[in-house]
Amino acid sequence: MLTRGEVSALIQRFPKVEDTLLSLQYAPKMPKGMVQETKAAIALARKFNNEVARPLALKLDRKTHEDPDYLPWELVETANRWGFYTRWIPRMLGGWGLNMPSMSYFTEELASVCLGITNVIGVHYLGIAGITACGNLKVAKRVLSEVVEGEKTGTPCIVSLSITEPSAGTDVEETDLMDKGTVTCHAERVKGGYVFNGRKIFISMGHVSTWTVVFGYTDLKRPSETAVAAVVKTGSPGFSFGSHENKMGQRVCPASELIFEDCFVPDNLILMDAEKARKYTGKPIREVTQRYTDYVVSATRAGVGAMGAGAARGAFEHAMQYASETFISGKPLIHYEWVQCLLAEMYKNAMLARLTYIEANYANSLRGMYKILQLKPFYYYYKHVPQAYNDKVLSPLTEKDWMTSLMIRTNLDWQFQSDQNCTSGWASLAKFSGTDLGMKNCQLALELMGQTGLRQERWVEKMLRDIKLCQIYEGTNQLNRVNLFKCLIGPAHPQVRVFDEQG
Ligand SMILES: Cc1cc2nc3c(=O)[nH]c(=O)nc-3n(C[C@H](O)[C@H](O)[C@H](O)COP(=O)(O)OP(=O)(O)OC[C@H]3O[C@@H](n4cnc5c(N)ncnc54)[C@H](O)[C@@H]3O)c2cc1C
Repeated sequence: MLTRGEVSALIQRFPKVEDTLLSLQYAPKMPKGMVQETKAAIALARKFNNEVARPLALKLDRKTHEDPDYLPWELVETANRWGFYTRWIPRMLGGWGLNMPSMSYFTEELASVCLGITNVIGVHYLGIAGITACGNLKVAKRVLSEVVEGEKTGTPCIVSLSITEPSAGTDVEETDLMDKGTVTCHAERVKGGYVFNGRKIFISMGHVSTWTVVFGYTDLKRPSETAVAAVVKTGSPGFSFGSHENKMGQRVCPASELIFEDCFVPDNLILMDAEKARKYTGKPIREVTQRYTDYVVSATRAGVGAMGAGAARGAFEHAMQYASETFISGKPLIHYEWVQCLLAEMYKNAMLARLTYIEANYANSLRGMYKILQLKPFYYYYKHVPQAYNDKVLSPLTEKDWMTSLMIRTNLDWQFQSDQNCTSGWASLAKFSGTDLGMKNCQLALELMGQTGLRQERWVEKMLRDIKLCQIYEGTNQLNRVNLFKCLIGPAHPQVRVFDEQG
């Protein structure tokens, strides 16, 4: 029970406006080249929408209903030809090196047409974030050079991320909850590596990926203190695929079951474990895992927020079209005041969704994962240095032990708790706002359109099925609300317990 004084302190501690202006704080530091680059990424997404996504989206959705085992190989090959799987890989690791926030704008654009196709492209970067966020450059170089090679040869190499287990979803997204959940994916330390046993479910693009980032635990009763992150290649002995889900939406993007049976993973494919955490950061693995996970989800939740913004906008555009084409009592629907109010509400929702993910990107640029890449000297250096020089002189550095040590320290040791709270809190805010607003707009569009809206060929019923999934993955929207409380409200009120069901 809080005292009266504590309650009044709680109410008075809403952050001052000058403390939350991430965009204004970042603007003077932002390399100006990012603007042109971002516009080009948006234009590319529009071209892809016109030439590929719009003509295909409904057809693919129907195909997956007729054949639930359908896997989107052709679409992946097309996206690979368009360079989508390497565009946001840093140039040091052989990719195009586009600035990371530009991916969110690109994502909103794609998501305004089809969330399923967006995820076929976007979730690859969840896997890549799982590799790069911990700073283990040696492993990153090994996997990402195959992705780059896959683009050159026309044989796509996709990366997925495997955390969720049959009895642990929300629990494994948050270190504070991990030990209360029931994890079953065991990683046993053996000479020269680890042996993984267990199952992962709902892994986006699992069946289609070449590499997966997998989390196991050496002690299933103390997962937060014994986490092991590794990369495993499709076809490795002991690693196989089960079924993939016959799910409600985003049907073109498979959600797969992954099975590990005595799967040996050598030390050179281990991204992070307790030994590495101690060696490189001097910190316990629990703290490192929390930082690592926060780094990943601070970037990817902003991306899912952008998917929500895209859905909000797509639903608005379909509602506008319907209201302009439909006549009631001889008058276009759009001339009715209630319809104008509804469209204004939908417009507001789409704009708010957009603003929140943009602000979350500023948080990542100022205080999180994008900070170093977007420092002006690094940014312009990588933008202008010839790739051949990069490949010859800089890339080999990624193989050096000291570089991996420096990167792991930079990523996992040098971020203040306040930075972590800011980026993680804003990412959660963007994620649940964007996806809730996307859902809201799909519902409003259906209200406006009546029975017409229920027809698959009018897009909105598919959008509604698709956006529902975004409210669940990357941590349910309830978990993200609690995380916002933990990161942005809680620190000023240490007396309030967070992630404590007895509290
Ligand atoms: C389409 C799709 C794709 C996915 N892709 C991936 C992927 O690529 N990789 C991957 O690893 N995972 C993936 N997931 C899994 C996803 O991350 C989980 O679904 C998500 O974390 C939620 O877990 P859950 O579904 O098990 O829900 P549960 O954790 O079982 O939650 C059920 C309910 O309980 C609530 N709840 C749970 N714990 C708490 C708590 N402590 N406090 C308050 N409320 C709580 C939740 O909010 C929810 O309402 C995907 C899921 C979907 C649907």
